[in-house]
Amino acid sequence: MKKLGLVLILAVSVAAQPPARNFGMVIHGGAGNYDSMTAEQIGQRRDAMTKAIQAGYAILKRGGASLDAVEAAIRVMEDSGLFDSGRGAYYTKDGVPEMDAAIMDGRTLAAGSVASVQHIANPIHLARLVMEKTPHVLLVGAGAEEFAKSQGIELVSPYYFYTEREWNRFQKAKEAAEKKKSSEHGTVGAVVLDQAGNLAAGTSTGGTVMKMPGRVGDSPIIGAGTYANNLSCAVSGTGTGEFYMRNVVASDICARVRYLHVPLEQAADDVVMKELVEQHGDGGVIAMDRQGNVATPFNTAGMMTATVRADGVITLRGWNKSAKPVTAPAEK
Ligand code: ASP
Repeated sequence: MKKLGLVLILAVSVAAQPPARNFGMVIHGGAGNYDSMTAEQIGQRRDAMTKAIQAGYAILKRGGASLDAVEAAIRVMEDSGLFDSGRGAYYTKDGVPEMDAAIMDGRTLAAGSVASVQHIANPIHLARLVMEKTPHVLLVGAGAEEFAKSQGIELVSPYYFYTEREWNRFQKAKEAAEKKKSSEHGTVGAVVLDQAGNLAAGTSTGGTVMKMPGRVGDSPIIGAGTYANNLSCAVSGTGTGEFYMRNVVASDICARVRYLHVPLEQAADDVVMKELVEQHGDGGVIAMDRQGNVATPFNTAGMMTATVRADGVITLRGWNKSAKPVTAPAEK
């Protein structure tokens, strides 16, 4: 009887626990140089990011799961055609997009990713299906698209991904006798802490400009461009993926938090602003821990981010280092 009473008291106290008030999320729209963009183009990206984070916030506010918020926000950015992701993805040397995406659940360490898909409008959704409906973590190319069909996803034609902006960029890059690294990036990503205290991360990209067909970047590689673990943190990276893979950036940041017990901001800064800089690895990350701490370091000229917390105020920043943050309400 005494035991039952204790169990009851425990159950009541667990049920009575208020939901985490530090819930929130951060999204990015890619690290790079935004100087060549007009104010109007930056405004369009800001608006798309506002819509994306509003979609995620609506889920979090009603007590929904971090994974759902990650997927919802990234889908909005994929659909916008404004980022190097989904509809707006960069083209390979052959003039077609090849996209990569990943999603990870910090509570269970379940993860799913896809790479080199050419006919998928929302690679982040397919990544989630890989996580939930297969025993695997990563599916690539034709196999990933076959799996998509089996799940009722319609394959879209390459024309779906045609945007004048990307076609012009592709033509220009082709004309350049020797194409070096592009200074513009538009990969998208999200890190989320929900009211239940669970972290999740996701990233979706068309990769780098004029990449070789078959090239896979860091975004779908769990631990390189995407990682989430309730014991440490959630990270989504953006930048030249080869550096993120060699340095397993996302997992390195989380390992520092977990084993060295350094604050999230320091861990993210040490990796992005020291280690990557020493190697000339350009890019940035967004990161969040279970206490709701956020870090958004970048070593490029800019990295667009939007952050929202339980108070419902969205803050957009980072199209260049001196850009004044802009705020917007999280609820329409
Ligand atoms: N990290 C991405 C990749 O290398 C590109 C980017 O973030 O811009 O595929």
